[in-house]
Amino acid sequence: MIEIRFHGRGGQGAVTASRLLATAAFLEGHHSQSIPMYGTERRGAPVTAFVRIGEKDQMVRSLIHEPDYVVVLDPLLRKSVNITEGLKDTGMLVVNSSVPPMEVELDKDILTATVDATAIALEVLGRPITNTAILGAFCKATGAVKLESVIEAVNQQWSGRLAEMNVKAVEEAYDRTEVGRPKVVDKIDRPSAPTNSKADWRTFKPMVDAEKCIGCKLCWMVCPDGSIDMVENKSVINYDYCKGCGICAEECPVDAIEMRMEAE
Ligand code: SF4
Ligand code: SF4
Repeated sequence: MIEIRFHGRGGQGAVTASRLLATAAFLEGHHSQSIPMYGTERRGAPVTAFVRIGEKDQMVRSLIHEPDYVVVLDPLLRKSVNITEGLKDTGMLVVNSSVPPMEVELDKDILTATVDATAIALEVLGRPITNTAILGAFCKATGAVKLESVIEAVNQQWSGRLAEMNVKAVEEAYDRTEVGRPKVVDKIDRPSAPTNSKADWRTFKPMVDAEKCIGCKLCWMVCPDGSIDMVENKSVINYDYCKGCGICAEECPVDAIEMRMEAE
């Protein structure tokens, strides 16, 4: 039996990734389960999902505490979530990262695969939805399911142009995945944040160009987390509570807000 844990954020498709992987395994003749664990169910919030692949009598109904593989859809999650918790020494971490495995800081010496799934998703889908790209990396790195099976699962999930783009994301990630050993450190620095802070939910950070801002307050009105103040008729973001959803940038009538990727 193989057990897999997915870590992502609301909006990145971790639950869909787990379902696609379970479907791919089923298409190969295995029994499989996809178990989503919903939390706050908000865009940007950490999300966990589980997949179990094996034979019928191995399909227990429980969460997975000692996974064989951990799949991480967001490059910054490792700074806020203990992604290697319970991961078997013989297992593997498959992580969305723009750096090669030997530059990924971990507190455990575990075989690590990296792929820049965000870059692939932006190139192919035009949005940072990393679920299908990370599955391409999972296939390449682990060999636990075949590439063809994941592509078939994607084609069952979507049709037309959407299916084509997601298949392309899977294939690109498959080709660009690297496997190696991480940079092992004593402790991962996980900075403490104010209570209810959403700073570590962000993959992208809104940056206001005060020169362009005309003070219309539209961003202030639409921000779902009330994390924008108007100061001297200009928009000012409170980064302790901004979750990086990008709604303010989408709505700004003069493109005064740019979403920039947070540094890994
Ligand atoms: S929506 Fe744009 S122009 Fe209007 S206040 Fe916000 S940043 Fe300024
Ligand atoms: S400031 Fe912008 S990116 Fe941040 S939570 Fe509000 S709308 Fe979303």
